[in-house]
Amino acid sequence: MEKKVDFLVVGSGIAGLTYALKVADHGKVYIITKADEDESNTKYAQGGIAAVMHSPDSYEKHVQDTLICGDGLCNEEVVRMVVYESTDRIKELIEWGTNFDKSSSGEYDLGREGGHSENRILHHKDITGKEIERALLAKIHSHPNIEIANHHFAIDIITQHHLGKPVTHETKDITCYGIYALNIKTGDIDTIVAKTTLMATGGTGNVYSATTNPVIATGDGVAMVYRAKGAITNMEFIQFHPTALYAPHLKPAFLISEAVRGAGAVLKTMDGKEYFN
Ligand SMILES: Cc1cc2nc3c(=O)[nH]c(=O)nc-3n(C[C@H](O)[C@H](O)[C@H](O)COP(=O)(O)OP(=O)(O)OC[C@H]3O[C@@H](n4cnc5c(N)ncnc54)[C@H](O)[C@@H]3O)c2cc1C
Repeated sequence: MEKKVDFLVVGSGIAGLTYALKVADHGKVYIITKADEDESNTKYAQGGIAAVMHSPDSYEKHVQDTLICGDGLCNEEVVRMVVYESTDRIKELIEWGTNFDKSSSGEYDLGREGGHSENRILHHKDITGKEIERALLAKIHSHPNIEIANHHFAIDIITQHHLGKPVTHETKDITCYGIYALNIKTGDIDTIVAKTTLMATGGTGNVYSATTNPVIATGDGVAMVYRAKGAITNMEFIQFHPTALYAPHLKPAFLISEAVRGAGAVLKTMDGKEYFN
């Protein structure tokens, strides 16, 4: 099958779905995703999302907390952009139908997690990501300009190379024309041509033997962009979670939510020593 669209989105986690909703008023959007549409790291996120909602919290406090935790690895410009955008992005998720828990006074029930000096974690019980994914997919399905294709596995980016022009990693103007995707149900390879392609394929957790990530997290997008462009410059950080330590040769059966540590819990080794607090 060959398909032409204005916007092609690869991946149906929070990044892909949010982008799709933002561009859908400007053209036809086609989302492809390699498993069921809700299968994503997003669905498994538990504790919640950090955002500055009101005083005594402030953007500067959140920026400083982030820079301290980043221990020199953060790009401060990006940290500032993310933190200063946080309130508006949360309001957007709420407008799109996400339910964050409220306290009995009607205010959002803000939790505190490791590294945060203020209560700023919005959550939905301990299944925040599942609630966000639910709300975004409901919104996606109600938009007439958005189509979503499950079980479509992006294989490679289409560049000039696929049009018969020689391309090397030194070529300056390598252009993305779309994606080749395997329709897992039929075995066909679809050619999807788009004016704009967004790679929102998530992380790479499953390249490690122990991970809390679902099996979809295999870094496909990173590999495709690397094959097309020959360079990935911004990949520096893989999140490590202490629960993965308990049986490094096995996949952990459960994840201790960050919210538990935020509420004061202490993680100890088998001989009772404090591991993280
Ligand atoms: C157990 C767990 C708990 C977490 N808890 C929190 C938390 O409390 N707070 C927080 O802020 N973050 C948390 N995170 C991190 C958070 O979930 C992720 O940072 C975020 O969801 C990433 O969103 P994404 O859209 O970039 O990727 P994902 O949600 O992983 O979406 C990627 C999408 O791309 C698709 N895809 C991948 N490869 C292909 C391909 N080749 N072709 C087609 N489709 C493809 C996948 O199927 C999926 O739909 C947690 C993560 C995990 C795993």
